[in-house]
Amino acid sequence: DRHNQLVRLRGNIRVLARVRPITADDGVGPGAENILMFDQDDDGVLYVTHKGKDLSFELDKVFTPSATQEEVFTEVSPLITSCLDGYSVCILAYGQTGSGKTYSMEPFDSFSLRLRRDQTRGTWLSVSMVEIYNETLRDLLGSDPLNSLDIKILPGSTGELYVPGLTHSRVQTMEDINKILDLGHKQRATEHTNLNTHSSRSHALLILTAKGRETSTGICTTDLAGSERVSRSGAAGDRLREAQCINRSLSALGDVFSALRSQQGHIPYRNSKLTYLLQEPLSRDGKALLLLQVSPAEKNGSESLCSLRFGDRVR
Ligand code: ADP
Ligand code: MG
Repeated sequence: DRHNQLVRLRGNIRVLARVRPITADDGVGPGAENILMFDQDDDGVLYVTHKGKDLSFELDKVFTPSATQEEVFTEVSPLITSCLDGYSVCILAYGQTGSGKTYSMEPFDSFSLRLRRDQTRGTWLSVSMVEIYNETLRDLLGSDPLNSLDIKILPGSTGELYVPGLTHSRVQTMEDINKILDLGHKQRATEHTNLNTHSSRSHALLILTAKGRETSTGICTTDLAGSERVSRSGAAGDRLREAQCINRSLSALGDVFSALRSQQGHIPYRNSKLTYLLQEPLSRDGKALLLLQVSPAEKNGSESLCSLRFGDRVR
C-alpha cells in the first residue's frame, strides 16, 4: 500500500528544470563560463561542475537552453487535462531573479484558450490574479489593489478555501483573457516605481477556475519571488523585511513538499500565505509541477545549486 502511495505521489509532484541560454546579463569573461552539462541519453539528468566539484541531479525532465516555449508547454499541458478531470493543479516557477521564471510562465497565462477549445463544453472559465508581497495578499483585478485580502474556509465545507472579495473575471475569448492580463499587469505596475525589482520580491499567481454544472476545479500558475539569498549584513529596513518574507514562504513551500513526500500526516500549510492558498493543489489529491529555472553561468553557480537542491528535497 505504501508503495502504491509513493507511486501515486511521484505522479502528483513533478520536478522539472529549465536551463536558460547565456544572456547578456551573464556578461563575458570570468563568471560567464557554462557549468552545466546534459545527458545525451537521459533527459532527466543535469550535471553541474562548480568550485572543482562534479555533481549530478536527477529530475523528471531537464529542458536545455535550446528548448522552445512550445516544447515546455507541450510537456506541461497534460496538467490542463487533469484540471478538467477534477484535480486541483499548480505550476510553480522557482529560481533566482533573472533565471527565466517569468519567461517560462508567460505562455501559460493564455493556456485557458486551449482549455476552452478542447474540452470545456458545459463549463465556464474565470480568471483571478493575485500577488503575495510581504505576506499580504492582493487582488490585481480588483478596484482597489492596495486592499489586502484574507484566506478563509468555506463554512460547512470539507475544508474548501476561498478568498472573500477576490475578483473572478469570466472569460470567453482570447481577447477577454488578454484584456484581463493587461489589467492585472498594469495594476501591479502602477503601485510600484520599479516593477522589475518589485516583481522579483513578490509571488504572482494566476488562477483559472473551470466551473461545470456540479464541479469546480482550478489551475494556478505561480511566478515565485526570486530565491536568491540576501546577505543579512547587506540588507536593512524594507529590503530586509522583504527578504525575510520571501525566505519564510519559500521554506514553507519546501516544508510542504517534504511533508507530502515523507508521508507525514500533518502538512504545514499555514506557515505562509503561499502554501495556504495553494493547499488544494499541494495536497495528495492535487497535482503540482515545480519548474526549477537555472542560469548556466558560473557566477550564478551557487544559486543554481540551491535551486536544484530545493528540487531534490521535493522529489
Ligand atoms: P526571472 O523572472 O526569473 O527574474 P526572466 O524571465 O525575467 O527572469 O528572464 C531574465 C532574462 O532572460 C529575460 O530577458 C528573458 O527574456 C531571458 N530569458 C529567460 N529564459 C529564456 C529562454 N529560455 N530563452 C531566451 N531568453 C530567456
Ligand atoms: Mg520575473
